[in-house]
Amino acid sequence: MLDLIVKNGSIVDGSGMPAYSGDIGIKNGRICQIGQITATAKNIVDATGKVVAPGFIDPHTHFDAQLLWDGYAKPSIEHGITTIVPGNCSLSLAPLKPEHRMKLVGMFNQIEEMPIVAFEKGVVWNWQTFEEFVERIRSNLSINVAPLVGHSALRLWVMGDAASERTATADEITQMQGLLRECLDAGAVGMSTSFVDVDEKMQAVPCRYANTEELDGLCAVLGEFGRIVQLVNEFYDADLTVARIDQLAELSLKYNIPTTFSPLFVNNGDFANVDRMIARVEEQSARGARVWAQVQTRPIDISFSFEVPSLLFMRLPSWYRLIRFGTPEEIVAAFNDSDARKKLIAEAAPMGEQWGALILRQVKHAKNQDLVGKTLTQIAELKDSTPLDVMIDLSLEEDLQAHFLSANLGHNDVEKVGELLAHPNVMIGASDGGAHILSFATFGDTGHLLGQFVRKAGLLSLEQAIRKITFETAAIWGIEERGLLQKNYVADITIFDKETIDRGPEYFVQDVPGDGYRYVRDAIGIDTVIIGGEISYQKASGYTDAQCGVVLPGKVA
Ligand SMILES: [Zn+2]
Repeated sequence: MLDLIVKNGSIVDGSGMPAYSGDIGIKNGRICQIGQITATAKNIVDATGKVVAPGFIDPHTHFDAQLLWDGYAKPSIEHGITTIVPGNCSLSLAPLKPEHRMKLVGMFNQIEEMPIVAFEKGVVWNWQTFEEFVERIRSNLSINVAPLVGHSALRLWVMGDAASERTATADEITQMQGLLRECLDAGAVGMSTSFVDVDEKMQAVPCRYANTEELDGLCAVLGEFGRIVQLVNEFYDADLTVARIDQLAELSLKYNIPTTFSPLFVNNGDFANVDRMIARVEEQSARGARVWAQVQTRPIDISFSFEVPSLLFMRLPSWYRLIRFGTPEEIVAAFNDSDARKKLIAEAAPMGEQWGALILRQVKHAKNQDLVGKTLTQIAELKDSTPLDVMIDLSLEEDLQAHFLSANLGHNDVEKVGELLAHPNVMIGASDGGAHILSFATFGDTGHLLGQFVRKAGLLSLEQAIRKITFETAAIWGIEERGLLQKNYVADITIFDKETIDRGPEYFVQDVPGDGYRYVRDAIGIDTVIIGGEISYQKASGYTDAQCGVVLPGKVA
């Protein structure tokens, strides 16, 4: 007697081979039979008319904190994701000494827009080492987790405050190497670092003070384990990104490790630079280096209100200083002060068209309800005002709770993005799941891939797209026994309708500890998600309480 049979599906097995019809039998969490199965089973899932694929893998997330209060990493599983990689961009919550907790929380707050109150209300700080952190999240895990250890966390542990001040001594590098070895032994899938991010004081994060000896020394340790390094490149500068590609290639060749950089965006119309960066990846690949560019599927949309600092204002110093460091009262006072307001408007004016294109997406007062959905240009015409004045006036009227959407800021050329997604040296990822929770919903990127780029635009075949988000991702990250539907593989399976699969619209929910909000999306077309052989989610009945998620791929079983 089998535990579970998935009947009559169209099997897209993750290898890229054409789909075929069949049943999948599962026992003790693993696939034990594929084909026409006559055996009986305790449970049967009818997949007639549906695609049966390996569970999707999301290689770029920041669910580190959320996993402490939500072992499902909601709503990832309902979008078909069965494995997530947290700890990207140099930031992980372990190893972490008690005296550095608030420093790290500050970095998560600045870089990933995680509210500080969520850490205060949602986190019991009962770990220090990476092994203790792994034990902690394993206790109620429904999704599989392949955690990276952050370079900034390693530095902070070894160097304390000096981590944000100077290069490391030879002795400190040796200590970091030992610490990284411990983390990899305890289950880390690799290490992340960054050349871009800043902390809550707008100062470079600790890993940016590392010299080449330090990064080299840490990659040597990754080489002992054959594990990956993830790096945030200077995505806004093609020359610097090309230099990072070369640097990663040298590290890959020297230590025989896989490497990946994120993100690679298609900025509006700037195809020449995208082609240049990809050509460099191809050249390094031809030399035998393993360098993968991470590309996200969704266009860049950013929502904001003046209650929390938004990425959108990063390059406007007066605005950013005000919304990052000012209290709500100070922001209101500046908006009401005619001199301060004039100065702000003058600074923002050069980005003229962008303000007019903003859409008012949410208000709390009934009198402004009719304006929701209109652009600021439209509202400015109605009020005989300007878009920037309208943005400020509505924010004042709504006690800073007027929400605006800046849609399609870039990365929205379907043909060009599709061409990249199909490229053999591109890893589909960079979702940033669990981060930027007040700027956009980081969920549904795989639904968008299969809806927009496979079904509507036909730029990838279904088999090719599934291979990219299952087998290839597992292979790149060294996640064994997952990513394919084959005998003896672990039964992580996503069943969906290829005619409807997509991502739903973005909406606001209040489910973050400390009564906080975030943007989420529902999935469309996902029917059933199986993790470790157990049904974790079904469209008809919702989530189950199965806790079959494991920490991959470390020695801690
Ligand atoms: Zn990130």
